Amino acid sequence: MKKITPHLYQLNLGFVNAFLIEDIVPDADAAGDLVPGFTLVDTGMPGQLPKIFAQMKKTGKDPRDIHRIIVTHAHTDHTGSAAAISKALDIPLWAHADTAQLVEQGLPGQASLQVSPGLLNQLIYQLLIRRGGTIDAFNIDHRFVDGEVLPIGGPGGVKVIYTPGHGAGHLALLLQDDRVLIAADICTNASGLNWSTEYEDRELGRQSILKAAAFDFDKAVFGHGRPLTSAANARLRVKFER
Ligand SMILES: [Zn+2]
Ligand SMILES: [Zn+2]
Repeated sequence: MKKITPHLYQLNLGFVNAFLIEDIVPDADAAGDLVPGFTLVDTGMPGQLPKIFAQMKKTGKDPRDIHRIIVTHAHTDHTGSAAAISKALDIPLWAHADTAQLVEQGLPGQASLQVSPGLLNQLIYQLLIRRGGTIDAFNIDHRFVDGEVLPIGGPGGVKVIYTPGHGAGHLALLLQDDRVLIAADICTNASGLNWSTEYEDRELGRQSILKAAAFDFDKAVFGHGRPLTSAANARLRVKFER
């Protein structure tokens, strides 16, 4: 795994990324009720628990220090190993209420997807997404509301930004101390900054990108593709403003 900022690591799980937010608290008083450890953000495809744990161990981190899992949205490439890791470590799962509704019924998303322009997107859609189907249902222990600040990472916490469009219940997460956005699938940076392969509602997705880009951050990481390492919010605005 790769360190992006003081509190954030990126795990490369093939065509999809997951993330670890590390709690770094100066002293016991600052920690409050928090027992310092890691928050895993997204979990890759089904069967990727060993890969996630192995990448942590390789960096000298203990998977047993993961205290919770956040899933950014219901798609299989982000929720695939959530239930298995939650069960193995006996830790809670957090997500937006709309995501909770889907995964608790074993659904990876809603129907009527809009595929983004380009041959590659058509290909990915036909090969990977079209078949849709179901996921193994699991329960969400804490449901987020838009704007909630989670007392994890550093003293400034992590702001939850509700960003629907790509999928119902989609969240971006802002690590306020590190000025980095976990953008998940609001868009991709796989071969340059661009639309995600598909949206339930692309115009709503565009509004969500601009909503997130209005916050103060310098770097951004994505579910698919490479990090943006500077002026990320301005670059998102330039790319997606009409
Ligand atoms: Zn997705
Ligand atoms: Zn994805």
